[in-house]
Amino acid sequence: MQIGVLALQGAFVEHIRVLQQFGVRCREIRHLSDFGEDMDGIVLPGGESTVMSRLLQDLELLQPIRQAVQSGLPAFGTCAGMILLAKEIDESDFPRIPVMDIRVRRNAYGRQLGSFIATADFAGIGAVPMTFIRAPCVDAVWNDVDVLAVVDDRIVAARQHNVLATAFHPELRDDTSIHEYFLEMVSSACRLKKRT
Ligand code: GLN
Repeated sequence: MQIGVLALQGAFVEHIRVLQQFGVRCREIRHLSDFGEDMDGIVLPGGESTVMSRLLQDLELLQPIRQAVQSGLPAFGTCAGMILLAKEIDESDFPRIPVMDIRVRRNAYGRQLGSFIATADFAGIGAVPMTFIRAPCVDAVWNDVDVLAVVDDRIVAARQHNVLATAFHPELRDDTSIHEYFLEMVSSACRLKKRT
C-alpha cells in the first residue's frame, strides 16, 4: 500500500510517522510529478489552508488531486486539509479541492488561544483524544455525508464515501485509531479496484 502525503507545508511528517508504523509506504507530494496513479490514498495535513492553496495552485496540483479523489482515491484531510476538501467555507473563498458536501468555518475556536485537547466519541471507534489547533468546525453537511464526531455541539469529523475529514489532528497523538480507520477505507477501495 502506498499513500501520498501532501508535503508542501504543515504537519505532514507526523502523518508519515503514524502511517509508517503500519508498514505503509508514504510518498511525499511536493511536485506534480510526485502525484502518480500508483497511489492508494492521499493525506492532506494540517497547516495553513490559504498557504497550501497558493502552493497547490502554483504547482498545478489542485485539479489532478480533485480528479483523482472524485474518481475514488481515498482522501484524509486534517484541519487545514479539511478546509481544502470542503465545498463551502464561511469566509472569503479561495481555490480548493472541493469534493466534500460540507460547509466549514475556519478558526471556529479563535485564532491563537483557541487550541485545546478534548476526548469525544468517534463513530465506530469510541472515545478518541483530539487535539485542536486554530481548528475549523463543520457548520453544515448535506447529501450523504456521515457525521462521525461532535464536540460541544460542533461537528469535528465527517466522511463522505472515500473522503474523511477531521477538524482535529490525530497525527499528534499516540492513539492511532483514526489513521487505522482511514487505512481500512483505503484497503476496501483497493479490494473494490481489484474486483473491477
Ligand atoms: N487555521 C488554519 C487554517 O485556516 C488551520 C489550522 C490547522 O491546520 N491546524 O487554515
